[in-house]
Amino acid sequence: MLPQLLLAQDLGSWPQHSLSRPQPRIVTLAPAGAPVPPPSDAIVLFDGTSLANWRTADSAMGPAKWKVESGYMEVVAGSGAIMTSRGFGDAQLHIEFASPSPPSTRTGQNRGNSGVFLMRTYEVQVLDSWQNPTYPDGQAGALYGQYPPLVNASRKPGEWQTFDIVFRAPRFRSDSSVASPARFTVFHNGVLVQDNVALVGPTSHTRRTPYIAHPDRLPIMLQDHGDPVRFRNIWIRELPEVSAAVTASAAGYAAISGTR
Ligand code: MG
Repeated sequence: MLPQLLLAQDLGSWPQHSLSRPQPRIVTLAPAGAPVPPPSDAIVLFDGTSLANWRTADSAMGPAKWKVESGYMEVVAGSGAIMTSRGFGDAQLHIEFASPSPPSTRTGQNRGNSGVFLMRTYEVQVLDSWQNPTYPDGQAGALYGQYPPLVNASRKPGEWQTFDIVFRAPRFRSDSSVASPARFTVFHNGVLVQDNVALVGPTSHTRRTPYIAHPDRLPIMLQDHGDPVRFRNIWIRELPEVSAAVTASAAGYAAISGTR
């Protein structure tokens, strides 16, 4: 058996949304570079010109109603969340966002809130976390309601920011029990904020709910939380199953280290 891994992030004993939980340390960033163009094997979900790959995230699944101009899309408050037309499971997702500028006079969760939901279910929080304290498990780069980001790597309102997300979809057995949880690694503006953490279930507000078995592929969803957050340069690379590679590397590790 492999020795227990020391994980950088732990769900810990903090109540959900605790304001007593330590605030992530602030990291000061160098100026942003040019947008990262999609590699050859990426599927471009938004190239700045059209929402053709997006639908409303309701049962109507009609044309997405967010604004598109000058190379970005912007949340239209009250128009609802949008989602990709096609579904994805394991994936590397690149997405850029900008918080409203000037910022709203509102604070906390009501300043620049949106979200990137993998499989419509598991949220990487989008928030204006520049000089805007809130509960740590709800700030930018949090896996909402579960894991605060390791650090606060936010840029100022109006500046383009990046999320690079590596997502492993949960696996369910035929009896709908969880075979392996959803896992996230997230870089915010190039800085590691989520280090291969396992979600305890879907992300949700004021409660932690258990997994509910779902299909292998589901859409990426972006949240309408009422704030005019902008997004651009969204691309995704589908990833192969990790199980075979992990099994091989674990066996190799055991052979080298002598652990069983
Ligand atoms: Mg949100």
